[in-house]
Amino acid sequence: MSKSPTSYSDLADRVVRHYKKTKRDLPWRKNRAAYKVWISEIMLQQTRVAAVIPYYERWFNRFPTVEALANAPLDDVLAHWSGLGYYSRARNIHTSAKELHQHYGGQLPQDAKELRSLPGIGRYTAGAISSIAYGKREPLVDGNVARLLSRVFEIEEDIKSTSAIKQLWELCTKMVPAGSPGEFNQGLMELGALVCLPKNPKCGHCPLEPVCLAHAHDRTGELPVQAKRKKDSDKPLLERDALFVIRRGKILLAHRVPKGLFGGLWELPQTPSRPELAGLLSLSLSFHGKKPGMVHSQVLSHRRLCIRVWPASAEGRTKLAASTSYQALKWYPLSQLTTLGISSASKAIFQNIAELRAINREQQ
Ligand code: SF4
Repeated sequence: MSKSPTSYSDLADRVVRHYKKTKRDLPWRKNRAAYKVWISEIMLQQTRVAAVIPYYERWFNRFPTVEALANAPLDDVLAHWSGLGYYSRARNIHTSAKELHQHYGGQLPQDAKELRSLPGIGRYTAGAISSIAYGKREPLVDGNVARLLSRVFEIEEDIKSTSAIKQLWELCTKMVPAGSPGEFNQGLMELGALVCLPKNPKCGHCPLEPVCLAHAHDRTGELPVQAKRKKDSDKPLLERDALFVIRRGKILLAHRVPKGLFGGLWELPQTPSRPELAGLLSLSLSFHGKKPGMVHSQVLSHRRLCIRVWPASAEGRTKLAASTSYQALKWYPLSQLTTLGISSASKAIFQNIAELRAINREQQ
């Protein structure tokens, strides 16, 4: 177990006092309803605050209640998530909303264990909803909290290791005060996000400076201990060939099955190699040029993506061959592309639509 720099209640008091004085005015702090806490916490995972704000506001205009969300088609939910990435989050929210609507009268349960039985709600999100919306004495640890506590308590193990994670949750469980659990949890996260930065922590502005062991021992640059991250160039490369074909103002799109990478989203039909495209779609294709019209490269969390986009003309009636990736094909009006659930990769490709169309026209 780590060394204890001070009493847990003193530490909690410092965090809560500082949070009350300095908290940012964010849209999700105006209304602490459990549904709002839930959606904001899921949106904020892996995503910056500034990027989340417009999504959060659009979401509650379209899905003001759990019931409205449960009754909406998945396509619509994904369209409102489009660009936030990690689409399983949106699919899980939708499934959970249906369950909440059917079995809980549209209300999120207060108990963290019960919350964790819902798809996509893990220990962290359950702790956030339970403490912030319902005032329950539940802890939470996110990446920012882990970094901050590893410094305050001088934790010497890799913060992603099982034993460090166990230690961090135990510390938070002891520290979270009965009187203001939500403010304490938000205060810890806020300090981790704004003050105890990965590089050059702002110790002079930190209420924990007098009790922080890493600061006292001049070790803030050494902690937290972290195993080396994989370089982007070491991530496996996923290469795809995509078809770009337009007929009478409509573009051919494929709808992914609702699981796995980009599950449930629409995109240009893609296969691992160009010759497989005609077979997937039952079309006779003539490609315009020997080189792709564009190549989109992107680094995802666990892999690199390279999509070669091939402008082409197509003959015949489209019919989807048996596919493990797609559930449907559709000719979609170009003017309505913005209403679809699409990935950031598709968004980047569609930004080049004018150039891709020009290649198609030149060759016709
Ligand atoms: S004193 Fe510095 S290192 Fe310690 S918690 Fe505060 S910001 Fe982080």
